[in-house]
Amino acid sequence: MLTKVIPQAKIDHLKKWLDRAEKIVIVAHVAPDGDAIGSSLGLYHYLEEQGKTVTVIVPNAFPDFLRWMPGSKDILRYDKYKEFADELIAGADVLFCLDFNALKRLDKMADAVAASPARKAMIDHHPYPEEFCRITISHPEIASTSELIFRLICRLGDFEEMSKESAECIYTGMMTDTGGFTYNSNNREIYFIISELIAKGIDKDAIYRKVFNTYSESRLRLMGFILYEKMVVYPEFCSALITLTNAEQQRFNYVKGDSEGFVNIPLSVKNIRFSAFLREDRDAGMIKISLRSVGDFPCNKIASEYFNGGGHLNASGGEFYGSMSEAVDLFKRALVKYQDELIKK
Ligand code: 5GP
Ligand code: MN
Repeated sequence: MLTKVIPQAKIDHLKKWLDRAEKIVIVAHVAPDGDAIGSSLGLYHYLEEQGKTVTVIVPNAFPDFLRWMPGSKDILRYDKYKEFADELIAGADVLFCLDFNALKRLDKMADAVAASPARKAMIDHHPYPEEFCRITISHPEIASTSELIFRLICRLGDFEEMSKESAECIYTGMMTDTGGFTYNSNNREIYFIISELIAKGIDKDAIYRKVFNTYSESRLRLMGFILYEKMVVYPEFCSALITLTNAEQQRFNYVKGDSEGFVNIPLSVKNIRFSAFLREDRDAGMIKISLRSVGDFPCNKIASEYFNGGGHLNASGGEFYGSMSEAVDLFKRALVKYQDELIKK
């Protein structure tokens, strides 16, 4: 049995909305990850089976390694089909905001969502949710939004009706947001849920392979390069930094998603508890920052204080508008400021 994480009043409220809703739109954050896509498609399949007309809309492209997911071909990209998406967002009866806590995480889609008269429900696990939804289901203590979708479907009394497709998507989000159940994954109920998802017919080993073992040769060579030539370790700060410029990306035929997970690698070095990955993003005209930590060091504090971002205690990110060397300088300043917290045993 699962603990009742989501308050009953919110379940009842949402049930009332869903009973009356026909057109439903689900939106997730910019640069959608496994949990954004997994939770959106998990909910999409469930609602479609309930006879609703459902569209998942994301601000921009999602990585190739998620393209196998059932329903992924039906996802609408806002950057490609803005007018159609605007119409759907404005005309929805209910609008779900999944895996983000602030409108700015929707990038160019934010205005359309803010202006929509639809009833809005947030389901998310990032701390400090902004108030832009009538129903806010926000649980930072839960490892993934996908897990919250599982809990929601169960609490709506529909576990029996959950399809294998929905289960596959939910599992994918739970797996990717915990690095394959290697961090943020000590809640025993996660494993009860996995067992229920397996009962739905998912092949968890196959999903792992499809997500984590389908990279290109050039990504592996890029990984070798960054680990050998680019990783800088700061033992005095228990920290590490990897930078990746545009020229380096070109040299290794970089495609979106190729650097996924790189930021975690330095954490496998003894005593390293804070890791940063800085990548020039020429299309977006900025440097994308990814931060990871282990234990109680709050990398989301560094993300919000220095890089106009946010996220979770152990996984966060942000953006920097300026040169790589300026971004590195800023990172080093953060190390100095937080030295005491970084080196404490
Ligand atoms: P990643 O390093 O995988 O891109 O992002 C890790 C986590 O950091 C995301 O799940 C999200 O919670 C947060 N994050 C990443 N980039 C940003 C950003 O630009 N702004 C905010 N607020 N959070 C971010
Ligand atoms: Mn998530």
